[in-house]
Amino acid sequence: MRTPKFGASNRKLVDKATKAKKAKYECPKCRKKMLERKGNALWLCKSCGSKYAGAAYSFTSESGEIAKRLISEYSES
Ligand SMILES: [Zn+2]
Repeated sequence: MRTPKFGASNRKLVDKATKAKKAKYECPKCRKKMLERKGNALWLCKSCGSKYAGAAYSFTSESGEIAKRLISEYSES
């Protein structure tokens, strides 16, 4: 990732994104914390090999959670 030269708030955003993308996330299929970021919003489980489309720098995002909730609400009715 490119590092911003100017602006404390920009650096803070990049720090947050870098930390989020390096963290390990739980695989929804095998429940192991083996998800790794492979590309922009592409997450791969090192244990079972499944691929997921997540948020750009973390596996889930606030808007992603909202979308997930809306989808389940619509499919119920
Ligand atoms: Zn898995």
